[in-house]
Amino acid sequence: MSFQFSDLTIQRSDNLPPPETFENPVLFGTVFTPHMLEINYENHQWSKPIIKPRENISLPPQCSVFHYGTSCFEGMKAYADVEDIEKVAKGETLTTQRVRLFRPDKNIARLQNSMARLCFPGFDSEEFLRCLEEYVKVEANYVPKQYGYSLYLRPTAIGVSESLKAAPAPNVKLFVIASPVGPYYTPAAGEEHAGALAVHPVKLLVEENVKRAWPGGTGGCKLGANYAGPMLAQEEAHAKGYDQVLWLGANQEVQEVGAMNFICVWKTKEGKTELVTAPLDGSVLPGVTRDSILQLVREWGEITVRECNYYVSDMIAAIEEGRMVECFGCGTAAIVTPVKLLAYRGVEYAVPAPEDAEHSIARRCLKTILNIQHGVTPKEWSRVLVNTEYK
Ligand code: PLP
Repeated sequence: MSFQFSDLTIQRSDNLPPPETFENPVLFGTVFTPHMLEINYENHQWSKPIIKPRENISLPPQCSVFHYGTSCFEGMKAYADVEDIEKVAKGETLTTQRVRLFRPDKNIARLQNSMARLCFPGFDSEEFLRCLEEYVKVEANYVPKQYGYSLYLRPTAIGVSESLKAAPAPNVKLFVIASPVGPYYTPAAGEEHAGALAVHPVKLLVEENVKRAWPGGTGGCKLGANYAGPMLAQEEAHAKGYDQVLWLGANQEVQEVGAMNFICVWKTKEGKTELVTAPLDGSVLPGVTRDSILQLVREWGEITVRECNYYVSDMIAAIEEGRMVECFGCGTAAIVTPVKLLAYRGVEYAVPAPEDAEHSIARRCLKTILNIQHGVTPKEWSRVLVNTEYK
């Protein structure tokens, strides 16, 4: 049986540091809010959920998570409503605040899926959402009141059973911590596209040997182990001067880039513009941003959207024949990350990275999604936590 929101207790910290001002650049995921949400599964049942001061987790060294990588997580964000952002910008004092979550149901469903892959117990998604919303309300003062800024939420589940047996862990710790974050790319001084709509085009190295995911593997789940495996290849790419790795599948089909889904916009040989991305065949993570972009572009109805296997050779042909419009990674952290260069078998190919929203699907999606996230553009994807007291 699931834990229940009605059983949630809240222990407030008496040490509440002031919210981050972001006057100096803050590295992603290095500043944390004072509370955590925690729910434990022990003796075949879920404990009562608790929001409590964030504290270290003390576990015996024989715990499953330390040996068999029984860990999975989510990455999602809470955003200030645009009205609050505008009030703060005008110097007004907030008495209440409205915070928004972006498609939290998608993240919770993906967490349940990842947990099921690890043989962890399930729960009622609606009960978890209500606990999560309460947690965000407790931390609402730490949701930055700036456009493009957000409170990053990290739900995590780990196996805490005390046994060296390589078997499913019957005891699980589910917790959520939160980290205020600015726009992913802080523009360098004097950089033209300052602010939340700034993007930072990256150089990709196509990785032909090391694999991140394969048919029947766990690439479609958000397991901690999926991030450990690729680290060496990512580091080697960095050392060669590339920002991210482009991952290929078992048959060398294009999968993802770094820890983002990957999208190409190109013209077909017949001159038709289409958006192409890898299908959700279990080898790529079902990204919330990917899904949002595909839905938006389908709604706009201007170009065809195809979820299908394609190859680096298709991309290179499109680049060499002048048919590539743009390609970009997409994910919660940066929303979109355009690509400016593709390195493949020792040759570097320049990739077009159009800068105006008229020609760039990536930039248009960035603006549209940010506007939905902050409530500038109403859409059912954005869920409001109403009138939380501002302290
Ligand atoms: N692919 C991987 C491997 C990821 O870690 C992520 C995470 O952010 C994504 C894709 C994008 O998913 P989402 O849009 O839900 O953030």
